[in-house]
Order: sequence, then structure tokens, then C-alpha cells
Amino acid sequence: MPRVAFREAWTLGRVLANGQLLRYGRGDKGYTVRFERALAQKIDSRHVLAVTSGTNALITALAAAGVGPGDEVLVPAYTWVSTALAPLAVGAVPILVNIDESLAIDPADIERKITPHTRAIMPVHMLNLPCDMDRIMGVARRHGLLVVEDACQAVGVPYRGRKLGTIGDLGAFSFNHYKNITSGEGGAVLTDDDRYFTRARMYHDPGNFIRGHAETDEPLFSAMNFRVSELTGAVLYAQLQRLDPLLARLRRRYELVAETFEGAAGCRVSPHNDPDNAMGLTVLFDDPEEARRFGATRGVERLLDTDRHVFTNWDAILSKRSFHPKMNAYNWANRDIEYRIEDYRHTLDILSRTCRVALGTQYPASVMRLRKPALRRAVRRPAGPAAAAPAE
Ligand SMILES: *Cc1c(COP(=O)(O)O)cnc(C)c1O
Repeated sequence: MPRVAFREAWTLGRVLANGQLLRYGRGDKGYTVRFERALAQKIDSRHVLAVTSGTNALITALAAAGVGPGDEVLVPAYTWVSTALAPLAVGAVPILVNIDESLAIDPADIERKITPHTRAIMPVHMLNLPCDMDRIMGVARRHGLLVVEDACQAVGVPYRGRKLGTIGDLGAFSFNHYKNITSGEGGAVLTDDDRYFTRARMYHDPGNFIRGHAETDEPLFSAMNFRVSELTGAVLYAQLQRLDPLLARLRRRYELVAETFEGAAGCRVSPHNDPDNAMGLTVLFDDPEEARRFGATRGVERLLDTDRHVFTNWDAILSKRSFHPKMNAYNWANRDIEYRIEDYRHTLDILSRTCRVALGTQYPASVMRLRKPALRRAVRRPAGPAAAAPAE
């Protein structure tokens, strides 16, 4: 199934024919506004604001909530590097938290990392896999912390009857080329809070809230330009109609591919925080060597071997360097922040033993069925009655 095709060509063509590329030009008829409303309705969020990237959505969410210098923000040690960079962009510092076997930020380690300076938690739903949001919200409420969900990799994914990104105080989506729906580059901020939404709009557009034009009492502050054009809005509006079919395909293929690992020896499907709605598949091995070997199979990747998703590759964070020495959030922190690799051995151990298995939504289900024997051969089976007995 094509990711972009006639639908996107049609909406883009309408924008080009009209000639109004600014998102505000056509009032309520603009594609960007229509996309924001349709997405808000689909995921049941009171407000949605389209921005130019997922990174900028995270930065806008933090700025909207007033996170800034002196604040510590808890982020998982396994995520795309942007999650950890976003606090720095508003003058706060990221504090790394270990993940658990579900690949989500570990609620128990969150509790250990909280200090009097902690302001926010950023749970990240990697690979369409939800964090344990019930527990995380419980911890956050008990400690009076803000929750900004990074749902960049989980657009549209349900969690116990709600949609990821709408459970915390604010949420962020990405629409870059690799995400569930795409406009090449793009993102969105989600919130139910009217004031956060006003501040997010203010922060994302330095011109929209000039005196006399603003429909708010919120005091004006200096801002960025993270506005999207109607070209982005038009593609996203068309893409939104592809979201539900995509999620249904992920769900079906999960069932299809997950059963490959039933009865395998030395590995199992990773624990999932909402197994009835699983739309992403990873496999956890006992032995990192076996995971590495399985990672060489087509359509499979060992998580430790993925680019800037592992904190050990976050040079800009580990070196605590910024573009100007005086514009450095670590100078404003309330204590010395140290990133010690040995504090995150647990995360590295899980990543060394976990492989992502692509669900192949771009192929017909019959192709995925043909792939199953190869996956089955790539994992160990108990050899006989003796070997099938528990090892310990
Ligand atoms: C993609 C992604 C982002 C950033 O999105 P961009 O649109 O590329 O800026 C942030 N966090 C996670 C977890 C992501 O996967």
C-alpha cells in the first residue's frame, strides 16, 4: 500500500491551484486547520497544534508548560535523541532514566531519579509500544510533576481505551518520513489545557499574537517560528485517512508474526503494557549473542545497534556542550549533572538482548506469512524432551 499517492497529490494540487500557502489564508477552510480538527476528534484531544517537526512539538510543549532553567526533566535512556535535546532547548536539563523490558521508561527508576528540582517526566512510546501510563501518571500526580508524552513513534496507537499522547498534560507527535503518517517533516502538540494551548500557539508563531490581533489575555512572550505551511497541512489532511487502515494492518500482522515465537527457546515476545492492542513487536532474548545473530535476519534489527536511539551515542548530551558556552542549560542547573554509563547498564543490557521485528505493513499479509518460516528458523527450538525441560 503506497504511503503517499493520489489522495496527497489531489489535496496538494488544490493548495497550489489556490495559491494561498500560508496556513491562516483561508480561515476555517484551510487544510491545516481541518487536519488539526480531524486529528483532535480522532484521538479525543481538546487541542491539536501542527508544527514543523516532532522535535519542535516537544520543545513547544515544554515552553507552553513553562519548563525552563533550573528544572530537571526525566527522559528515558532509550529514545530518539530529540527527547533529551528538547529540555535543553528551553534551558532545562535532561536526567536519564533506565528503561524496563517493555522498552519504556521504568516507573520504579523514575521514583529513584526524582529530586526537589524535577519538574517533568517525558515518557516515550517507542516503536508503537505504550509506556505504563497508569503507573507513570500515578507517580507524577504523587510528586506534582508535569507529564509530556513523546508519542512521536506512536501516532494513533491506543492504550487502555485512550490514545497515546493524550494521557499526559501535553503530548507530541512527529510526521517525519518514518512515522505512522507523514508529511516528510512535521509534528503536532496535543493538550486538553486551554492555557497551555494558547501558550503553545504563541511560542510557535512570533507574528500571530501581535498586540491587537490576539484573542487572549495571556501576556505576550518572545517566540519561535514553528508554523507549518498549507503544503504540509494538505498532505497531513490526506494522510490522516490512511491512519486507521495502517493501525488495523499493524494489529493483524502483530498477531500473525508474534505466533512465530511461541514455544521458541531462549527468547520471548517482550512484555507489552496493553497486550490486547499490541501494534509493535520486539523479542527479548536471554543471551545478547543470540539477539545479535537474530538481528541479522531480514526485517529484524537488534535495538543496541540502532543509531542515535541509544544514549551512548548522544555526544551533544554526554559532552554537555551547547552552541554558545553561556547559553548552556547545565550552567543554570541546581546541581552538577553527571551522565555515567555505568548507571545505565540495565538499559544497555535490555537493548543488547532485544530485537525489533518489522511488521511489514507495506506488504500484503500473504508476503508476511511467507516470511514466517525464515523467522521461525532463525530462533532456537527446544531440541527434544530433555532440552525442553526448564534450564534451571
Ligand atoms: C521522530 C522522533 C522525534 C522527533 O521527531 P522529528 O519530527 O524528527 O523532529 C522525537 N522523539 C521520538 C521518540 C521520535 O521517534
